[in-house]
Amino acid sequence: MTQVPAVRSHPFDDDKLREECGIFGITGVAEAANFVALGLHALQHRGQEAGGIVSYHPEAGFQSARRFGYVRDNFTKAGLMETLPGSLSIGHVRYSTSGSKGQTAIRDVQPLFAEFAMGGCAIAHNGNLTNAEALKEELIGRGSIFQSSSDTECIIHLMARSIQSNIPERIKDALRRVEGAFSLVAMTRSKLIGVRDPRGVRPLMLGQIGEGHCLASETCAFDIIGADFLREIEPGEMVIITADGIESFFPFEKTPSRFCIFEHVYFSRPDSVIGGRSVYETRRQIGIELAREAPVDADLVCPVPDSGTPAAIGYSQESGIPYAMGIIRNQYMGRTFIEPTEHIRNMGVRLKLNINRALVRGKRIILVDDSVVRGTTSRKIKEMIIDAGASEVHFRIASPPTQWPCFYGVDTPEREKLLASTMSEEEMCKHLGVDSLRFVSLDGLYRACGEDGGRNVLDPQFCDACFSGEYPVRPADMINKGFQMKKSA
Ligand code: SF4
Repeated sequence: MTQVPAVRSHPFDDDKLREECGIFGITGVAEAANFVALGLHALQHRGQEAGGIVSYHPEAGFQSARRFGYVRDNFTKAGLMETLPGSLSIGHVRYSTSGSKGQTAIRDVQPLFAEFAMGGCAIAHNGNLTNAEALKEELIGRGSIFQSSSDTECIIHLMARSIQSNIPERIKDALRRVEGAFSLVAMTRSKLIGVRDPRGVRPLMLGQIGEGHCLASETCAFDIIGADFLREIEPGEMVIITADGIESFFPFEKTPSRFCIFEHVYFSRPDSVIGGRSVYETRRQIGIELAREAPVDADLVCPVPDSGTPAAIGYSQESGIPYAMGIIRNQYMGRTFIEPTEHIRNMGVRLKLNINRALVRGKRIILVDDSVVRGTTSRKIKEMIIDAGASEVHFRIASPPTQWPCFYGVDTPEREKLLASTMSEEEMCKHLGVDSLRFVSLDGLYRACGEDGGRNVLDPQFCDACFSGEYPVRPADMINKGFQMKKSA
């Protein structure tokens, strides 16, 4: 199948961990697909390569559309949206969790759809299955024919092999065989279904709009359609939503929850609510913790926009050092340089960020960023700010050093490419060429996320594997490929 280039991630954005999927589903509203398009638009930060929507109408049956690129460029066209009638619909935005990473093929764009004897079922998945390759080998050995390179397709084939007589029971059967992280929205002809894995690694929220209900990765997707946020789907919970109401089940063995702490740090939008707390407020609290743990004499606190902004505000408030926008983000470059030439590519960070020269000249600057991944962007920003005349640059990072890759639905470079996996804090400071570099501690991060006593070392309250190397779900496929776990884990 021809691989069609998608809207590419910007080459100078590759110094971030990247959330790989957003999901949305709704039932009980007219023209449900239009609501899904709006919800997916609000979740676009979770995946920009491609998106898809499936809807069901009693006369038209199941209809689907999958497209490369942004939601706003595809699912706003009346001609396309008219092909997605009905009051029940789900959708997905994707970067690429597994399979054709960075080169999404249309066959990998979700929702995936399958026709069973008892009717059709569409599934959209956020997360990553850590035993998908082993399962795929087993299923192919037993005669399954895979259409995509997506780990999510394992769920469809496991459902096909289930002997249960209805789709929700087949979903439960299938999910009891998979390992890793999954938040799912699925639909049949009459049901909207939401499920979270037993550890609840990835988010899933429940909302209400009039008589209808909706499910979304983040609450910001409810705001855009005017829905009320009801509650989070709990770790290990499955909800089945029909015209008669909501049924809740807990089909998996109970296990301690391990929500991804990086959702608080970076992935989720600051206007979303997680765990009863505004993401913005949590990030501001991280800045407060940072200011307490790593104070420094300086003239200005400046965020690396946009993700460092709430933490910089918190740092400034706690330290009393004035907050200022020392770096200005060019809001429009994303549309201009979808396919940058080599020459443009070399201009790197300058295309996206510019230093507010008049402000920083002669000043001692505290730069607050959400994370350091490869360190390439941090280094360039430091060069730019020194070129602009700053007298000192102190980096303060609103997460602990990122030392380990994520296998639960987040795109991370191989371990060797993570700066903190090969260098100490002191070495990183020299490498980046800054006057000082400090990261918030794991305990400080946990406190900012509402855990006043910090991290429970015996039973951590969150997944923090990319910082600690302690993986709550054994990454079986990666271990089979030679990945070395931390010795003590
Ligand atoms: S490893 Fe890191 S990014 Fe991945 S789920 Fe855990 S906390 Fe989140």
